[in-house]
Amino acid sequence: MSEISVTVVRNILEAQDRIAKSNRKLFEDHKVFVLNLMSSPGAGKTSLLERTIEAMKSSYRIAVIEGDIQSQEDALRIKRLGVETIQINTGGACHLDANMIQSALEKIPLNAYDFLIIENVGNLVCPAEFDLGEHEKAMILSVTEGDDKPLKYPLMFQKSSVLLINKIDLIPYVTFNTERVKKTVSELNPRIQVLEISCKTGEGIDKWVEWLRNRISLCKH
Ligand code: MG
Ligand code: ZN
Repeated sequence: MSEISVTVVRNILEAQDRIAKSNRKLFEDHKVFVLNLMSSPGAGKTSLLERTIEAMKSSYRIAVIEGDIQSQEDALRIKRLGVETIQINTGGACHLDANMIQSALEKIPLNAYDFLIIENVGNLVCPAEFDLGEHEKAMILSVTEGDDKPLKYPLMFQKSSVLLINKIDLIPYVTFNTERVKKTVSELNPRIQVLEISCKTGEGIDKWVEWLRNRISLCKH
């Protein structure tokens, strides 16, 4: 890269950093807990949101930002649950960035919410590189993706506070060594919490909801 293009890249990254900080300040000022949910396509982000919202919407005021390259499919699924949902279409970009979130926030009166969930674009790689201003990152790995993923895509596992191992109802039919994943992940990130869930049967969702409740109550103080 030439010296000029290096400077341009650095300026863009610094601008993103500034916007992420200003998003974070906004969330803190309004005492809204913000979660950045990441995974590869098809791991179950929207299904997890459906389960989470069903379990929590009577106690918390929830809003959702849906990130997808294209389409309104996921936003329509969430809107059906009666929750405020803003769809971001990245138009090709394979991750959300702080700037996109800042624009979406113009449509969300933050003082009306306790909990904002950002569903990132399905991708196991670069969403982990972009700070959106969220409080916590959580990620899903489904058992159909294979137990080698933490070794192949370590960054997302390193940046997440919670790993949800989803589709555990399918374990009898696939080769997936949960203990191997737990061991690798705890070496990559000693502070990560691992929860085993099935969005299909509802198993384990109570523990996830409990983690969220604790996290939301911390934001209120
Ligand atoms: Mg989606
Ligand atoms: Zn990307």
